[in-house]
Amino acid sequence: MAKRKLTQNQTRRIQSNNAKTLHRHKKKDIEWSDEMLGESQEGVVVTRYSIHADVENEQGKIYRCNLRRTLSSLVVGDKVVWRKGNEQLQGVSGVIEAIHPRENEISRPDYYDGLKPIAANIDRIIIIVSAVLPTLSLNIIDRYLVVCEIAEIKPLIVLNKVDLLTQEQRQEIEEQLKIYQDIGYEILMISAKSGENMERLTALLAQGTAIFVGQSGVGKSSLINHILPSVNAQVGDVSETSGLGQHTTTSSRLYHLPQGGNLIDSPGIREFGLWHLDAEQITKGYREFQYVLGTCKFRDCKHLSDPGCALREAVEQGKISPVRYDNYHRLIESLSETKSQRHFSAV
Ligand code: GDP
Ligand code: ZN
Repeated sequence: MAKRKLTQNQTRRIQSNNAKTLHRHKKKDIEWSDEMLGESQEGVVVTRYSIHADVENEQGKIYRCNLRRTLSSLVVGDKVVWRKGNEQLQGVSGVIEAIHPRENEISRPDYYDGLKPIAANIDRIIIIVSAVLPTLSLNIIDRYLVVCEIAEIKPLIVLNKVDLLTQEQRQEIEEQLKIYQDIGYEILMISAKSGENMERLTALLAQGTAIFVGQSGVGKSSLINHILPSVNAQVGDVSETSGLGQHTTTSSRLYHLPQGGNLIDSPGIREFGLWHLDAEQITKGYREFQYVLGTCKFRDCKHLSDPGCALREAVEQGKISPVRYDNYHRLIESLSETKSQRHFSAV
């Protein structure tokens, strides 16, 4: 059978339809004009999707919203000004118009955009480590603490799985962790399994917004399930309001805890802190070093065997923990090893 030839008109029509479809596809956001929207009101971003965000109003109701194109990065935890539409359009209830300045933000390296914010307005970073399986690593704790210092967010070090320790091992670990208490960090020994000190943890989380971070296997999921048994119920509420159905993506989400306080969670946030740091950040991230760093004899002091190094002297005088000092140098050394392969997370 001969191939049917298209007339010029037909070809043009097909091309034009194709262009229109592409345009409509690209332009997924609805044009909200002024008369379609109510008064502006305050809200908090509780979930961020690729082109939408769920905003919670002051009465605790959640609305799926479009974003004004003028908005720069919008992330979970952002406090926003938004307007509710007089009616829902394509399952969307309103539009976010402005973002209040952030108190702080946490970011991750993005291949295309440099540093990309993933959550904002966080009051506490809960660093979960485990006594055993995986073995306690003070080096990892230091790494997370550096990140907390840079982001200016208060950390809490939580040692999980204490049920697996003998009395003797427990004392040994308490001794090891004392170096953190001495420089003003809070420590909590808990067990998601036996429930030991879980009430202390929930009480500490009852105010403000927290995130849980830590290596794989330390017990983050177990702890989160413990303090937040109704995660699925909340997800269900969101899709009911929006009519768009449940998003199964791993978007960052803000949850309200039953006893008060909020938790922001997503796989990307749990892994936050294990990405690339530079030497300046690491040096700034050791809080007890800050008082002595400016007093080294040489401005480019490497704080090793350099003459007149105030940091080394402080260690020798017992003012700074030798463990922290060693970990500092290990973190700095690890930079030259990883320089050629920048750490971009695969979340
Ligand atoms: P995540 O990777 O940090 O989310 O860790 P998970 O919550 O998945 O826990 C890893 C493993 O440790 C699982 O087998 C848990 O059952 C176990 N686990 C978590 N918390 C505790 C604890 O307090 N005690 C003991 N013995 N095991 C725990
Ligand atoms: Zn020095």
